[in-house]
Amino acid sequence: MQSVEHFDVVVVGGGPSGATAATDLARLGKRVLVLERAFRIKPCGGAIPPRAIEDFDIPSHLIVAKIKSARMISPKDARVDMPVGDTYVGMVDRDVFDPWLRERARGAGAEVRTATFKQLEYLEDGQARVTYLDKNSSGEHRCVTASAVIGADGAKSRVAAQCVPGGDRMRCVFAYHEIVEAPAADTGADYDPLRCDVWYQGRLSPDFYAWVFPHGDKASIGVGSEQKGFSAPASVAALRETVGLKDAKTVRREGAPIPLKPLKRWDDGRRVLLAGDAAGVVAPASGEGIYYAMLGGRLAAEAVAEFLHSENPAALRSARKRFLREHGRVFFVLGILQRFWYSSDKRREKFVAICRDPDVQYLTWQAYTQKKLVRAKPVAHLRIFFKDMAHLLGMART
Ligand SMILES: Cc1cc2nc3c(=O)[nH]c(=O)nc-3n(C[C@H](O)[C@H](O)[C@H](O)COP(=O)(O)OP(=O)(O)OC[C@H]3O[C@@H](n4cnc5c(N)ncnc54)[C@H](O)[C@@H]3O)c2cc1C
Repeated sequence: MQSVEHFDVVVVGGGPSGATAATDLARLGKRVLVLERAFRIKPCGGAIPPRAIEDFDIPSHLIVAKIKSARMISPKDARVDMPVGDTYVGMVDRDVFDPWLRERARGAGAEVRTATFKQLEYLEDGQARVTYLDKNSSGEHRCVTASAVIGADGAKSRVAAQCVPGGDRMRCVFAYHEIVEAPAADTGADYDPLRCDVWYQGRLSPDFYAWVFPHGDKASIGVGSEQKGFSAPASVAALRETVGLKDAKTVRREGAPIPLKPLKRWDDGRRVLLAGDAAGVVAPASGEGIYYAMLGGRLAAEAVAEFLHSENPAALRSARKRFLREHGRVFFVLGILQRFWYSSDKRREKFVAICRDPDVQYLTWQAYTQKKLVRAKPVAHLRIFFKDMAHLLGMART
């Protein structure tokens, strides 16, 4: 009988979280297999903060644009520019970024197979048997065994649904975008290749926002919403018309769910751990997920390495604990922000007005680019806190 291949870790999904986890584990000398179905390019606006570029050694050739400001647009068309300051927002193209991350994992020693994960079974000897559809050559179902499995297979994760209690019940925003060819400077389009536009208008999204993100020679024009029956393509068509990009050549049209809240559990208490979108780790209000997915992959790798060493499943829990210790407060605040400020045009109007405040701009960019709340400006924090409370309690006019 043919013996079944064994790996220390099988990572399901080779996106930012899975590829990061695989790289880190391979660098620790673990035998790692990545299963990536390579079904399509991940739909994504591709905006990443400098902190992601620093922490995960992203080379500059992957940054197709360096954005210098964001412009917030209110329901009544008030426009507020928010310059980033002496740093920038990086833009990556996922059709290049994700394969590069997988190649880095391969270079570190991980094996990467084009394959779709199908099933995980718990064997009596304490291993997991992973069944996948081999998409490379045979098109057959194959099995391997593993001491641990990382589910990094994105929102609506099959690993989460099969192995982790509550993993099949994840609330999501549906996001859709169209990639278009960037306009030339003289076309008259309302477009700046160094500025991200964020549209807070109920006509475009009743509960999230719409965007125009430049990507060098291309641009992403998109929208998100949780509401059933909402037509994202109609909304993007309206936005393209508004900004004068109706006739820009469309390169791709694509959509995908964005999770709204981290799951209560990321592990199965035995040998499976989730990371990235599979664990629900996307910042509310902004929908930012790439940095958090990569961090989630790194924390999963550390937790799994500890588990392989100690054989104590409790080690798997440390990934979620450590993540929430560092970012739980920001996720909580952003959740309130989304629920309150994105709920009506009246509130959206006030929200955009608040963005005029230089302290709000400074603190927002610090929080986004460095993933830290700045302690150097306690008075500004207090002032913004009281201003926010006044709005929440209905005591403020603008
Ligand atoms: C339209 C849109 C715009 C967005 N814009 C931004 C943005 O500008 N900035 C930002 O930070 N975030 C953005 N996000 C969120 C961001 O894309 C995700 O949070 C991020 O990609 C999560 O990374 P991940 O590795 O956890 O999951 P994914 O990137 O989804 O990767 C999962 C991988 O698993 C693979 N896979 C899935 N199922 C299987 C299976 N059964 N077997 C094998 N492989 C499988 C998939 O092919 C994929 O490669 C956006 C999302 C959407 C939908």
